[in-house]
Amino acid sequence: MRHRIAVIGGGPAGLTFARVLHRLDHPVTVLERDPAPDARPPGGTLDLHERMGQLALSMAGLLAEFQALSRPEGQAMRILDTDGTVLRDWQPRPDDRANPEIDRGQLRDLLLGSLDVQWGRGVTEVVPETRDGVLVHFADGRQETFDLVVGADGAWSRVRPAVSSATPHYTGVTLVETSLDDVDTRHPDLARLIGDGSMAVYGVNRALVAQRNSGGHVKVYAQFRAPLDWHTNLDRHMGLDSVDVEAVRSGLLALFDGWAAPVLDLLRHGTAFVHRPLYVLPVSHTWAHVPGVTLLGDAAHLMPPLGVGANLAMLEGAELAESVAAAPGPGDLDEAVRAFEEQMWARAGRWANIATAGLERLVSPDPTEALALFDEVQPS
Ligand SMILES: Cc1cc2nc3c(=O)[nH]c(=O)nc-3n(C[C@H](O)[C@H](O)[C@H](O)COP(=O)(O)OP(=O)(O)OC[C@H]3O[C@@H](n4cnc5c(N)ncnc54)[C@H](O)[C@@H]3O)c2cc1C
Repeated sequence: MRHRIAVIGGGPAGLTFARVLHRLDHPVTVLERDPAPDARPPGGTLDLHERMGQLALSMAGLLAEFQALSRPEGQAMRILDTDGTVLRDWQPRPDDRANPEIDRGQLRDLLLGSLDVQWGRGVTEVVPETRDGVLVHFADGRQETFDLVVGADGAWSRVRPAVSSATPHYTGVTLVETSLDDVDTRHPDLARLIGDGSMAVYGVNRALVAQRNSGGHVKVYAQFRAPLDWHTNLDRHMGLDSVDVEAVRSGLLALFDGWAAPVLDLLRHGTAFVHRPLYVLPVSHTWAHVPGVTLLGDAAHLMPPLGVGANLAMLEGAELAESVAAAPGPGDLDEAVRAFEEQMWARAGRWANIATAGLERLVSPDPTEALALFDEVQPS
């Protein structure tokens, strides 16, 4: 039976879901708020794990293309202390394909392929159990009904209120993201410092992480514990929403005062700054099943970014797609969604606990905690 299925959101969760359904020859409507695929910068690099993101791509028939695009050497990880001493310098084996990196933009284009996404279709509300099915309201005032609406619309989901009253709360940790372009030619010293993958420096309640993307692009994340309004306290002239890049830069340099000069060059040469306070949903977020509506990815289980959110989102998207495509009738569709939710909640709950504990140790009053965590998880 051909169910009327809509997925709200064209991120890793929504596109993987749609792509697997497409492969199984089941129609799906993909509704994305952004007006076009390149309407905003796609973000940094993602490492896709063999048994999560890569498994999802294999279910979508895209693993070989991923392998051609991804960067196994990007798994390299270097840790420095705040005076610039290298404490760990881990290199993957040449054949290591456990967690290769891919730019988010490349992943999005790979998943998009020939999918027919409806761009510029922001959803405002989802009303379950109307006479004709689940009713979706759009920002432009239009409405449509479906048999199943899948909320893959991220942290601030507009679908989530149809199943749950949970809202994200601030973790107490903020990221400020900046970028360096063409690092190998314009900043060769920094290129050497970062290496082929990621470099991290951990201090008291703060960290600086630099990650190589493709084409000599580097994303730098300044991470620190602070109240949400930290920038107004720090300097009354510094507003992150303002375009005063130099004020933001000097505010950040003051926060990391005393760190080694080559490390601080990551902030000195950064081009623009993006404020990303880290929000999370309650660990083990679940809800009473609502027929016709479910959630995937960050909409269901927003957690600290410790390298697993996109992986879970993609695996869930692929698994739900296979289950609903195999469900012959309306009752089977509902049973398939229920079973999927139970499996998602159990797995995401385990990862949310790990990611929450991980964030406590990575941005910690005791910087040796970050090193200990690295030693626990990194293969020797
Ligand atoms: C700095 C940082 C680094 C990270 N690094 C990693 C990593 O290395 N590995 C990893 O696995 N995870 C990582 N994550 C986590 C990862 O980014 C998320 O878990 C992942 O993007 C979740 O995918 P998603 O599809 O659920 O949501 P999103 O990626 O947020 O996509 C949601 C989509 O829905 C659209 N949308 C939103 N609202 C509406 C609406 N009302 N109507 C229609 N469309 C809407 C949005 O425009 C967007 O396209 C990182 C996160 C951060 C912040």
